[in-house]
Amino acid sequence: MSRFIKSKLLSLTPYTPGEQTNDKEVIKLNTNESPFPPSPKVMEAISGSEIEKLRLYSDPEAKELVYAASEFYKLTPNQIIAGNGSDEILAFVFMAYGEKICFPEISYGFYKVYANLFSDNALKIPLDKNLKIIPEDYFDKKSTILICNPNAPTGIALNREEIIRILNNNKENLIIIDEAYVDFGAESMVPLIDQYDNLLVIQTFSKSRSLAGSRIGLALGNKYLIEDLNRIKYSFNPYNMNRLSIITGVSSLKDKEYFYECCKEIIKTRDDFVLKLEKQGFVVLESKANFVFAKPPFINAKEYQKKLRENNILVRHFNDPLISNYVRITIGKKSDMEKIISLNENVEWFKKDEV
Ligand SMILES: *Cc1c(COP(=O)(O)O)cnc(C)c1O
Repeated sequence: MSRFIKSKLLSLTPYTPGEQTNDKEVIKLNTNESPFPPSPKVMEAISGSEIEKLRLYSDPEAKELVYAASEFYKLTPNQIIAGNGSDEILAFVFMAYGEKICFPEISYGFYKVYANLFSDNALKIPLDKNLKIIPEDYFDKKSTILICNPNAPTGIALNREEIIRILNNNKENLIIIDEAYVDFGAESMVPLIDQYDNLLVIQTFSKSRSLAGSRIGLALGNKYLIEDLNRIKYSFNPYNMNRLSIITGVSSLKDKEYFYECCKEIIKTRDDFVLKLEKQGFVVLESKANFVFAKPPFINAKEYQKKLRENNILVRHFNDPLISNYVRITIGKKSDMEKIISLNENVEWFKKDEV
């Protein structure tokens, strides 16, 4: 750091992204990307003439993307705003509603970072001993509530009825549901938007739509909430969606069949992988996401991650003592998951107790 930085930022701990690599030998199961390419329609949509148009600014309203999303989610365009990844949407949300905010102690790591940056009063609510969110812990909070559903990195989901109870017990508070992983088997709260003016849903194209590199996120909610977020956006970065992101996002939304097919395949691979891990002695939390959170037997989790790394497989481990017994493994292709299962079966180090 230089001596010029604002003193408030001296104590900030930035987010640590998972390792990225271009090494073709490496099986990348550490950042919850899709193993599948984007829809073939995305490929077709990026033409030479679109690249020529890059000399022009993009549409600040990202109208085509917002319109395509409104069709997909059966909402009106004024109930949607697009962001440069849902991380940007989350930043807008913290700026708009983060003065007082609470979220689960174990959740998406970025929440704590944004809380430090944008909030004066952030409350972290513990999970129960099974790493589950207890809905009652979020009743009458007198603050904004942010819940990742399914939660990360546990993969455990609340059902619609549980979230409705949280909404009903917080009529004066905004409830934000981050649905980054909802397409892999959990219930979306989007159909409740017309009914609850205190509900804002956040989604991303980075996981289920194979577009992490395109940086597309959405906030979905009643039009006054979307107006708030536009106030922030137009005070921060009006051209937040670039031309290529708008095009890739629209094309992805229009290819429903490919989208549902990819999600179905991931779910099938996940459920099969979980059964095999359990047979090998892992404790696996019930996942509705495109990753599993698993506690290896015999070997400690950090050591296990290291050993997989030596075998060219990247998975994520978190040092927080509440979850340091677990590794988070993204669901890749069937063959990727088989590789882990057969490694566990065939290597010395998996059996050895190194705790
Ligand atoms: C991946 C992820 C995001 C961020 O997604 P981007 O759209 O790529 O910025 C947000 N929330 C959760 C819970 C995530 O896992």
